[in-house]
This record gives sequence, C-alpha cells and structure tokens, in this order.
Amino acid sequence: MPDIVNSSYPSLNFNLPSAEQKITPAWQNAERTNLWVKRDDCIHPIVSGNKWRKLRYAIQYIVENKIQHIVSFGGGYSNHLHALGYACKILDIKLTAIVRGHYQLDKLTPMLQDLVDWQVDLQFVDRKTYQLRDQTDYLSSLSLRYSQAFIIPEGGSSHFALGGVADIIHELTQDYDYILAPVGSGGTLAGLIHGTAMQPVDHQAQILGIGVLKGQGYLEELVTNLLASAHQSIAQLPKWSIDHHFHFNGYAKATDQLHAFCQDVQQDVSIPIEPVYSGKLFWAAKELIAQQAFPNGSKILLLHTGGLQGLRNT
Ligand SMILES: *Cc1c(COP(=O)(O)O)cnc(C)c1O
Repeated sequence: MPDIVNSSYPSLNFNLPSAEQKITPAWQNAERTNLWVKRDDCIHPIVSGNKWRKLRYAIQYIVENKIQHIVSFGGGYSNHLHALGYACKILDIKLTAIVRGHYQLDKLTPMLQDLVDWQVDLQFVDRKTYQLRDQTDYLSSLSLRYSQAFIIPEGGSSHFALGGVADIIHELTQDYDYILAPVGSGGTLAGLIHGTAMQPVDHQAQILGIGVLKGQGYLEELVTNLLASAHQSIAQLPKWSIDHHFHFNGYAKATDQLHAFCQDVQQDVSIPIEPVYSGKLFWAAKELIAQQAFPNGSKILLLHTGGLQGLRNT
C-alpha cells in the first residue's frame, strides 16, 4: 500500500523504521540479559509512538476515501487525541473530540490547549455519558448527529490498529526472546501478537504485556477480543501474557520512587520515560530481571510507546 500520508504531507513525515537501541542499565542482574529498546518515541516530534502506529491505516483509509470529519474520544491528557488532533490539523480534516469531564476554557490541560490551537471541536461530556463510548446505541446517535463522520474508538484501538502495530514486528532487525510493552486498552499488545503470529514459529518472541492499570482479567479479555477479530483462521498464536504487578495502584497513579526511577533511567541510559506508561514498563523490566524471571542470555526488547507529552502535566 503506498504511504500516501508520508509522501503527501511533509509535516507528517515519520522516522520509520524506528531504531532498536541496545542499553546496559545499572540494574541488578542486567548483565545476565541483552536489552534493547525500540524507540517509537522518536518517530515524530509531536505525534506519539504507538498512537500513530494504531492510527496509521485508519488515517490512510480516511484520506483515500476523502472522508473529511473524524469523531473520537479521550480524557484531558489523552495521547491518542493529541496524535489524532495534530494529524487532522495537517491533513485538514475536521476532528470532533468527545472529552471526558467538563473543563473550563481558561483551565485546559496542556493537551487540550493544543487541541484548541489546532482547531479541534471539543465536546465535553460527563463521566456517565463517556462510559457509553463503545455502546451501539450511543454510537448510532453520534452517527446521526455527525452523519459524514468516521468514528475512531478511544485510544485508536480500531481494527485498523492491529496492522499498524504489527509493522513494529516486521521492522525488527533481529530475533528477540521476549518483547515487553505497556498495556492500556490492549490494542498495542494485540498488534504485537498479531505481527508475531505472522512470523515463522522459530523466530517468534514471547509477548509480555505490563498492565498500567488495575485490570486483571479485563485486559486479557480486551486483547483476546481484538485478536478474535483478526485471527479466526490462525490456530496458533505466539505465547503471550500480561503481568499485573506493576500498575502502581491504577491508571496514571505513581509513587515518588517511580518518578525518581524515571529520572534515573534518563540519566543512566539517556532515554526519556514518563510515569504513566514507559516508566511502569521499565520498572517492570528492572524488577523481573532482578528476580531472574528471564533465562540467562535472553534477548529482551522493550517497546517505548512514546507519550512524552504527558510529562507536561507533572
Ligand atoms: C495509549 C498508550 C499506551 C497503551 O496502549 P494500548 O494500545 O491502549 O494498550 C502505551 N503507551 C503510551 C505512551 C500510550 O499513549
């Protein structure tokens, strides 16, 4: 498929494939493993890593079909709305963002202020209404109200997302034993599993998700449902699981230790991370390596999913 987004819109040029960077952090037992980081945080200065991966083919479809209006959802700090808002500005597509909670216009978050600057139509809704965001009746009413619009689910986890994330696997320059990634809505993990399933079995990494919110059972279900839409015919999926020990008590919750750890990592290996997603991922890696959860000599890839705009809130 020609990449019409990259070729026609210079301000949406992406640094792809992203680098695989070897790191040797000063963590207990780190010398027993081989660690790399896939730097999806570097693919674009504004549009964040995994959110672009998930949006890429949805946007391509929208551009090819000359759709001029998108409706999507998110909270006041959403990396998804931020990535989508910028892409829509560049592509001259109208975006209606349905935002959880009522914000006063003089008290917007930095993320929402960017959306305003990019001419996004903000529609604030209360939490109860926001909870309806995946329900058929509510979506039908939105389709009536915004009759020409294309609706993208929260976090960009549409069926287009799996293929975009699978591109990460296709880009890899070597085999890994384990690939670790943070899990929020499950689209990224499902895409990594989807991409890995397309590789020969003896080249497949084991996919390990790190839950960033309290969601034991629930997150597995989200991933399984997303996979089911793409894999009716594939009997054998690669080994995957989600570790629930590193959510720090909930979404966007953190401790002073986690904040300090993010700064240590930045100093130690010169990679910026933030406490909502990548900080929990790196923390989990450090703990699991210390516990020798991976066999000696394992090749481990951490997927840096970006999201650094969120650091403006701390
Ligand atoms: C949204 C997000 C995630 C979670 O991805 P899901 O596909 O929702 O599981 C991870 N990292 C960053 C930086 C994100 O913005």
